[in-house]
Amino acid sequence: MLNKALFLDRDGIVNVDKGYVGKIADFEFVNGIFQLIKGFRRLGFLPIIVTNQSGIGRGYFSEEAFAHLCDWMNKRFEENDIAPVPVYFCPHHPTEAIAEYLVDCGCRKPQPGLLFQAAEDFSIDLSQSVMIGDSLRDLEAAASAGIPFRLWVTENKQSQIASSCTHCFTSLSEIEPLTLVA
Ligand SMILES: [Mg+2]
Ligand SMILES: [Zn+2]
Repeated sequence: MLNKALFLDRDGIVNVDKGYVGKIADFEFVNGIFQLIKGFRRLGFLPIIVTNQSGIGRGYFSEEAFAHLCDWMNKRFEENDIAPVPVYFCPHHPTEAIAEYLVDCGCRKPQPGLLFQAAEDFSIDLSQSVMIGDSLRDLEAAASAGIPFRLWVTENKQSQIASSCTHCFTSLSEIEPLTLVA
């Protein structure tokens, strides 16, 4: 039996995007994220974070610091009755990174590599899954991976919806999991 996933971008969806958030002091949960995860969980969706973290490749923070922040985040989830959420991240950048991180990789969104890796690890049926992102490259990655529900959360709701997204919202609280995937 395959699982359905709720793929979440991190910066701008789980936490407020303050730019290269690599430490606890800068990590502020977005309003509604706990409720959103629980809502999808009740419908059988496994939450998984997929995130570009070129701050690592650029040398702004280390993989160890990032892992520490992920642990802290998951403790806050647990306090809110949410099981630890797996985090898949791309530390690379094709032009602005140092040493081994300077790679034109297949895991930096809009490439779908992180989604495929997570799908393999957790036996995910991508054709039953959901992606929520604040950047079109999140939804482009999802489209490439064959994910049918591609939700764009953007303050400046576009009158012309991009082909990569299937639904558009101005905030997480507008998203009604049951209505969406029923
Ligand atoms: Mg983002
Ligand atoms: Zn990568």
